[in-house]
Parts: sequence; structure tokens; C-alpha cells
Amino acid sequence: MDAPYAKLEQLEPGIARVLAHNPSAFTYYGTQTYLLGENEVAIVDPGPDLPEHVDALVEAIGGRRVVAIMCTHTHRDHSPASRALAERTGGPIIGCAPLALEDVGPRADAAFDGDYRPDRALHDGETLQVDGYAVSAVATPGHTSNHLCFAYRGSLLTGDHVMGWSTTVVVPPDGEMAAYMTSLEKLRQRDERTYYPAHGPAVTNPKQYVRHLIGHRMQREKQILRLVGEQPRDIPDIVANAYPALDPRLTIAAGGSVLAHLVDLERRGLVVREGELWTLDTRSH
Ligand SMILES: [Zn+2]
Repeated sequence: MDAPYAKLEQLEPGIARVLAHNPSAFTYYGTQTYLLGENEVAIVDPGPDLPEHVDALVEAIGGRRVVAIMCTHTHRDHSPASRALAERTGGPIIGCAPLALEDVGPRADAAFDGDYRPDRALHDGETLQVDGYAVSAVATPGHTSNHLCFAYRGSLLTGDHVMGWSTTVVVPPDGEMAAYMTSLEKLRQRDERTYYPAHGPAVTNPKQYVRHLIGHRMQREKQILRLVGEQPRDIPDIVANAYPALDPRLTIAAGGSVLAHLVDLERRGLVVREGELWTLDTRSH
């Protein structure tokens, strides 16, 4: 694998990237940290707290003023390096809100970073000035409840909300399918020309790609309704039928996404749960 770890890649004027060495079935080649700005910079998704990654970021920053260290959300492949970077550059941590979860244990894609402490949490539509251009927070809950995208100079930093290599993991209780779909719809109404995700290549046809993602989830929902309509099924049974030839490392994540669909369908009165089994809600039909 010759991925460009620890190298500064200039993507377009004012947007550059450094890849962290944390490849996995959930992170692709690893977390991509973005540097916004030229004379001064904001750092988006500092990534895991790996010394060689933090060193590479400090070198890439090269003594420029750090206006903000921004996290899209607080999974452990995104936010932990914010502390080391704040310490070494003096930049403030400004971005997503912390999560107050009772259970910060491991999830399908990454455990939550319970130590994340922003100096300032941004709400939807709030902006910062970086090198003469606005960075705007776009609230996009779904993958996590605190997820933000950041708009800058006609591009959108999409974190894990929209990724260039894989569909997004949405796992209850913090992940929520209805919110995720609303957040996809929100992006479909926007006009950025390029998406830069935390994992995988840039998306250069955002509207088309987001429409495809929405369609994909609607197909999945239809498929789940058909499966539980045939007979009551538990989640492993639904996963086995809905995801043939699934990478075994992704079984738990697929189960989480199926659960996210089922919870949404239950709320809409379309399915009911009986112990481990899910079935169509015939009372409403
Ligand atoms: Zn994540």
C-alpha cells in the first residue's frame, strides 16, 4: 500500500490534506486531516493521536497561525489529536459539540472520544473567518448526533457524513437513520462543487452522489420491509439476506445499520419488535 501517509497534499488553493496512518475496514487508508487557508490555517479532523501524524501536521502548519482546530464529530479516529495539536500550536478547538453519552464504549466503527473538550461549539450556520474566507458549520446529525460538515470556498468538508469510498455507518442509539436522511437531503439542496470526506477520495459530483446515497438507503429500507414481511426475522437473519458476500469484519456494522432502519420504521409504525424478532406492523394495515 503506497498511500501518502504524513505527506502534505495541496488539493486546490486554500485546501490541503495529510493522511493519518490508521487504516482499517472502517477508515479506508486512514483519516484525512484537512488544512484550510494559506497565510493562516484551520485544521479539520485532526485525527487519531498518533505522534507521527501530529508531527506531520505541525510541519505542514509550518508556524502559521492556527485559527481553529475543528472536529466534524468525536469518534476516536477524528478528534483525539485535537488536544496534542492545541498544545503544540496554541490553536483553539472550535467545532462539533461534545457528546454526553452514558455509554462511551466501543461501537462498530470507532469508540467515542470522551475526553473531547472544545473551547467553542459551533451551531448550524455559524461561521469563522479563515484567511479571509468564511468556514461555515453545517449541522448534519445521523452518523453521530453531533456531526458537522464545514463549508469553505465552494467546497464541503464532509467528515463521515458523506464518504468517497463507502456508505456511512449509522448505529443507534447515537446514530439515527431519520436524521441521517434529513442531513443528506440538506446537502442535496446545497451547491458546493467538491466534497472532501475524512475517508476516501474527493467527491466531484456531489449532487449526483448524494442522490445516489439517498436512493441506496431507500432501497435498503424497501428490502428490509420485504424481508420482515415474509416472516418475522432477527437482525443477523436480515443481515445474511440483505448483505450477501459481506466482509465478516463489517457484520456488526451492517447489523447496526439494519437496526437503525428498523428503529426508524418502528417509529413510523411500519414494523414491530417482538423480543429479538422484527415483523410488519399489521395493526396499521
Ligand atoms: Zn465516525
